[in-house]
Amino acid sequence: MSSGKLTKGALLIVSGASGTGKSTLCSKLLGMRKNLRFSISCTTRGPRSGEIDGTHYYFLSVEDFKGKVANNEFIEYAEVHGNFYGTLKSEVADRLSCGTDVLLDIDVQGAMQIKEKAKTDDFLKASIELVFIGPPSFEELERRLRNRKTDSEEVIKKRLENARKELSFWREYDYLVINDELEKALGDMIKLLDSIHMRSRHIERTAFDV
Ligand code: 5GP
Repeated sequence: MSSGKLTKGALLIVSGASGTGKSTLCSKLLGMRKNLRFSISCTTRGPRSGEIDGTHYYFLSVEDFKGKVANNEFIEYAEVHGNFYGTLKSEVADRLSCGTDVLLDIDVQGAMQIKEKAKTDDFLKASIELVFIGPPSFEELERRLRNRKTDSEEVIKKRLENARKELSFWREYDYLVINDELEKALGDMIKLLDSIHMRSRHIERTAFDV
């Protein structure tokens, strides 16, 4: 049955330190919501095993990335762990206009850039929803990072230092989801997305508008 309302898409910006399970959470959510699309970012880092160009990222040379910066093609971009990452306007604007929700898995620097832009950009202001994924505790985050067993002590220390900085931004976000148990956090994300659709600013018109 039609609800008689047309919703404008939500721009779901998801951040959280590495080790919070943010990417797993995002990909599970994307698999469960057809109207939610992933914004494929550009990056200058090389692909990891299993990553596909044009699916996980657009893998670019530094020169090509800088060309896109010069052409003003990004909504935001930032240097993360020594590589550039950026969100293309073309991944976002048309979809939101059509009522499709768009998910951005980006770091706090990028999220804060979009938050700042939204202050003077009505289109962004109407669609932006900032979600922070947090670990149950800092000790648990450290345990998760150490359990990967792929990184050296030096890399782990650097990641923990970065994580501490990133985690301090949580209050800048509209929502906080704690990822203690994946299924529970996923349930929270679904509830959150459903609630977002009830916000009047995401509703373009109703069946009772005359
Ligand atoms: P990874 O290299 O592990 O895929 O991502 C490293 C970090 O970069 C993650 O925190 C991820 O959310 C962030 N990231 C991915 N794409 C973008 C983007 O387009 N812009 C910004 N600012 N950060 C991004």
